[in-house]
Amino acid sequence: MATTTAPTFTLHKNVTSFLKTPRKMLIGGEWVDSVSGKTFETFNPATGEVLGRVAEGDRADIDQAVKAARKAFESGPWPEMSPSQRGRLIWKLADLLEHNLDELAELETLDNGKPLFFSRMVDVPSTADLFRYMAGWASKIEGNTIPLSARGGQYFAYSLREPIGVVGQIIPWNFPLMMAAWKLGPALAVGCTLVLKPAEQTPLSALRLGELAIEAGFPPGVINIVPGFGETAGAALAAHPDVDKIAFTGSTEVGKLILQAASGNLKKVSLELGGKSPNIVFQDAELKTAIPGSANAIFFNQGQCCTAGSRLFVHKTIFDEVVEGVGKAARKLRVGPGLDPNTNLGPLVSQEQLDRVCGYLESGIKDGAKAIVGGQKGAGSGYFVEPTVLVDVKPEMKVYREEIFGPVVTAVPFSDPEEVLPSANSTVYGLAAAVWTRDISKAHRLANGLRAGTVWVNCYDVFDAAAPFGGFKMSGIGRELGEYALELYTEVKTVYVNLG
Ligand code: NAP
Ligand code: MG
Repeated sequence: MATTTAPTFTLHKNVTSFLKTPRKMLIGGEWVDSVSGKTFETFNPATGEVLGRVAEGDRADIDQAVKAARKAFESGPWPEMSPSQRGRLIWKLADLLEHNLDELAELETLDNGKPLFFSRMVDVPSTADLFRYMAGWASKIEGNTIPLSARGGQYFAYSLREPIGVVGQIIPWNFPLMMAAWKLGPALAVGCTLVLKPAEQTPLSALRLGELAIEAGFPPGVINIVPGFGETAGAALAAHPDVDKIAFTGSTEVGKLILQAASGNLKKVSLELGGKSPNIVFQDAELKTAIPGSANAIFFNQGQCCTAGSRLFVHKTIFDEVVEGVGKAARKLRVGPGLDPNTNLGPLVSQEQLDRVCGYLESGIKDGAKAIVGGQKGAGSGYFVEPTVLVDVKPEMKVYREEIFGPVVTAVPFSDPEEVLPSANSTVYGLAAAVWTRDISKAHRLANGLRAGTVWVNCYDVFDAAAPFGGFKMSGIGRELGEYALELYTEVKTVYVNLG
């Protein structure tokens, strides 16, 4: 694979000024310092240098933010607003996101590392799209009328869907802005108020989103944003007795902690967790799409996708051709800083992730796997790693079983559908899966048999604000996106009326 050179890139003037001063947290409509006065640094993954400083929230700040969210939920303009007024605000926020696309994309690339092309084409536009989709739902949250059998028709019953209340939302660093939108969009549409804790590695775009939300006109306290660390701010939010619901995206390990922390007041929980998704290529697949599709499935976003197609299964008759094709695609990727227009694979998000992924590469090689391409840390002071294809992989190897969250795919041959389906399902995860075949019956049979929340047929990583997304098994609880997302943020109330 090639390496791009350091870019000479002139940042948007708003980005330069945004980074110059330490960023505060958003509580009750005000930008405030943390109670402790502490701040923390966020880094540029392309260089390892400090990018900016951010107020470090902990328990005390979370407590204030929850109080502000409670107040905004119970009194003031928000609970008085009509559904269409809420929808308008969300739509306005989408407009502002688009209006500030250049700036937001640069901020996202600087903080996360991803190539600017993707921040511009994927992250910011799909964030705006999500808000628009959810804006439409604000005026369509309906209950039912319920035909009763009890007591000879003396009673009439209907159901209402009401906002669940104050919501805590904890998000990861792989798609910082988009993950914020997946959380905020449905919660705001149904009328909740919220406290968002962005990932410590990538707090900047969420804070800028907070500014845009104020500009859009969201009343004080509806959206509170508290950057900080997981063990302090995140844990305090998950355990807070006055939070009605916690929504989390991140590792399965932390997902379990969230579930425990939530048990104190039995707050509702939704979890979007890890994956080790199978990507299955049959001998009758159209290889000119299946090969680049399989490469994108693992290398998109530096492999830092919960849906990453990290276990590639290829029919034995085409194994060499497909694996060599994916390897060739990996060699063509230009690894470099996200701001360089020639880059198509940026750095990983942090030194910690780089060490993690390199640790997996070492363990794979030590266990007997062979890297036909990549296998090493990348050059330079940034957190670069080479896109890697591993063969000679055995099911007991860590690289085959565990989520790596980097640009590393294991390729394994198979003989028939009856063999590959149990192998594909043999994982604690169940987030996504893909099948490449021209045989429509086989495609549907596999789509039926795969234990995963999303199955792609002859494509990969297709998402839409309207289509539910979430995990089977240890990949999570609940579904985000689509109408299903509204269920995460509403309570159902049944009302009986005596007609007698
Ligand atoms: P993580 O620890 O699960 O972080 C996700 C979010 O949870 C962050 O905001 C984090 O805050 C917060 N958090 C951490 N510990 C917490 C706690 N005890 N209570 C409440 N919140 C807490 O993930 P990570 O450490 O960044 O990455 C580790 C691995 O997780 C990755 O290698 C990958 O396998 C997986 N991951 C999965 C996804 C996904 O989309 N499914 C996303 C990211 C990572 P801090 O940022 O301050 O720690
Ligand atoms: Mg950063």
